[in-house]
Amino acid sequence: MNNFPRAHDKWLEPPDDDPTCEDGCGDTLVRDSYTYEWICVNKFCPTKFDGVEKEMAEALVEYMEEVHTLKARLARMTRENVRLVEAMSNSGLE
Ligand SMILES: [Zn+2]
Repeated sequence: MNNFPRAHDKWLEPPDDDPTCEDGCGDTLVRDSYTYEWICVNKFCPTKFDGVEKEMAEALVEYMEEVHTLKARLARMTRENVRLVEAMSNSGLE
């Protein structure tokens, strides 16, 4: 049996996720309502600046990634702390 047509159709399917701003901030792009092109709506995106402003925008992207990483780490540690406090109170050792 030849699966070429089915495989070919599958290959032509568009990706499920919207593209991201790969050369700039990494945010998800949106369709422009007039040109129908993918655009970045982040007003602080490095692609919208030159010179020192671009460097500042790139630093902002980097620091925001660090903030997200630290927030996720804090959430994990908070959940772990809740679990440990609960285990301690259930152990009868207090
Ligand atoms: Zn961007």
